[in-house]
Amino acid sequence: MNCYETVARLHLYLGRELSTEEITIVQSHLTACPDCECRFHFDMRVMRLIHERCTIEKAPEHLREKVLQFARAPKGEQIDIDPDVEMEIRADIRIDIEE
Ligand SMILES: [Zn+2]
Repeated sequence: MNCYETVARLHLYLGRELSTEEITIVQSHLTACPDCECRFHFDMRVMRLIHERCTIEKAPEHLREKVLQFARAPKGEQIDIDPDVEMEIRADIRIDIEE
């Protein structure tokens, strides 16, 4: 499975909609590919922000809007994220991983 195919399956993987066989394939790619692993952690963080409403309600309004915009975007569509906002989101991800 290449990077494109893995990223295309990430939201299914996160939503636990893949078969056991596909999960194994995605996981082995994530282990071997730092780019996709990074993307996976970012997607996971965004998805958790959406689910944890209390977290997102505490987030600054502009950040919350961008996260929602990112989460609602069709797969493969490039979102124009403000570099400052992206840094805030990435800082948030780093904190999450260290916990
Ligand atoms: Zn990859």
